[in-house]
Amino acid sequence: MSLVMKFGGTSVGGAAAMRETAGLIEKFLADESEIIVVASGMGSKPIKVTDLLLNGSQAALDGQIEQIETTANQLRAIHDEAIDGLLTDPAVRDAVRAEVYAFIERFVELCKAINVLGEISLRASDAISGMGEQMSVRILAAYLTQRGTPAEAVDATDLIVTDDFFTSATPLIAQTNQKTNDRLRPLLERGITPIVTGFIAATAEGVTTTLGRGGSDYSAAIIGRALHAREVWIWTDVDGVMSTDPRVVPTARTIPTLTYGEISELAYYGAKVLHPRTMRPVMESGIPLRIKNTFNPDHPGSVIVANGAPADGGIKAVTAIKALSLVTVEGRGMMGVPGVAARTFKAVAETRSSVLMITQSSSEQSICFVLPEETAGEVLASLNAEFAEELKHRDIEKIWSLQPVAIVTAVGAGMRGMPGIAGRLFSALGAAEVNIMAIAQGSSECGISVVVDSEDISVAVEKIHDLILDHRPQTSDIR
Ligand code: ADP
Ligand code: ASP
Ligand code: MG
Repeated sequence: MSLVMKFGGTSVGGAAAMRETAGLIEKFLADESEIIVVASGMGSKPIKVTDLLLNGSQAALDGQIEQIETTANQLRAIHDEAIDGLLTDPAVRDAVRAEVYAFIERFVELCKAINVLGEISLRASDAISGMGEQMSVRILAAYLTQRGTPAEAVDATDLIVTDDFFTSATPLIAQTNQKTNDRLRPLLERGITPIVTGFIAATAEGVTTTLGRGGSDYSAAIIGRALHAREVWIWTDVDGVMSTDPRVVPTARTIPTLTYGEISELAYYGAKVLHPRTMRPVMESGIPLRIKNTFNPDHPGSVIVANGAPADGGIKAVTAIKALSLVTVEGRGMMGVPGVAARTFKAVAETRSSVLMITQSSSEQSICFVLPEETAGEVLASLNAEFAEELKHRDIEKIWSLQPVAIVTAVGAGMRGMPGIAGRLFSALGAAEVNIMAIAQGSSECGISVVVDSEDISVAVEKIHDLILDHRPQTSDIR
């Protein structure tokens, strides 16, 4: 059976990281018959190749023509460090460099076109942002082969078929399963380890799409499902899924076991450790998912399972999602009028904005929902058009938005049927003088979300995190 291993940006961030990664692949190949590697673009923090590509194209759009060559030089420097640090055979080194430089040349050409046209389509944006993965897999595959582990770079445009919703495309499952097996099985049968680009895919016509920022995790899950993999492992730069973002709260700890529901809630509400769409393919095929640290591989990390033990105290993790807008549709005339909610969300859907959280007051006098700050203007315009009549007759009095706000979410399947958790959470926030603007608890009871002012994010996260620490035994198995 096969194992899919995805290595994130820092895991392929430079020559040293790629050496670690190659060592891990070989270590696990020793007792696993087949490993399929999925890799991100190089991403040694703080410089991430995907960001460089996107920022470069944005600068070209903004008329900063000199920025195109500056970015191209940075891209060459990052990839040269890996190529020169890893590949010893001059012929191989030159061949890989030529391939990488060809992508960078294409980046320059596309940016020049964007600069001249004064516009960038989402399709062009995907063609550009996906080059990071196309470059990194070529270096990693050549390096593994040099070490005696036959490997081949594979562009996921040959595997994953999607719709044409550029920048956040959705895979077409049957075609993807077929193409993935057709392309990868022959390689695996020949003992060659495929090194597949994360993040990118293609339409049925072969036009490059991407699965959304951070989407390489999703790529791994899609490929895992297509190949009926035994497990999917996400290798990153922290010891698994933690009780909160360790960069923000240093006392964060690894959560050894999480349920599919818990990790979905965490990822959806902003925990960057996993792309929110990753869970569905593995959940549907019952494939266990592990999250491990490339730079601390002996740490067990986290495993995601169908059902897990509830955490003591109910809350396992807390997460925050920032730069949001709280939109309210308000009016006494809404009471009991059928269809207001449906029309509200139809108007929102027309803008293709995604709503992260919804609440409605019980008297039906207002509907509030939260969405990304940058979409608020368009959404308000759409709502004002939809309810023009009602606004004129004052059945709806106001449609307004408040920003920047954040959603802070406490997650834990053990919260279900455990009275008092919400009370403890609200008391802790109240004691810290955090004003709660809206509240939502999903019917799955996997999480409670509160909307707070952006200024209160850190305090809210810390106070909820304290509740986790207070109720967790300090045993050695919980790291
Ligand atoms: P990769 O490039 O490996 O995909 P990402 O930067 O996308 O890595 O995701 C890993 C990062 O997610 C970590 O470095 C960490 O700062 C951040 N993070 C945020 N919330 C959490 C959490 N609850 N648990 C673990 N990491 C988290
Ligand atoms: N490289 C892509 C990004 O930065 C995908 C990923 O890292 O998962 O968004
Ligand atoms: Mg990621």
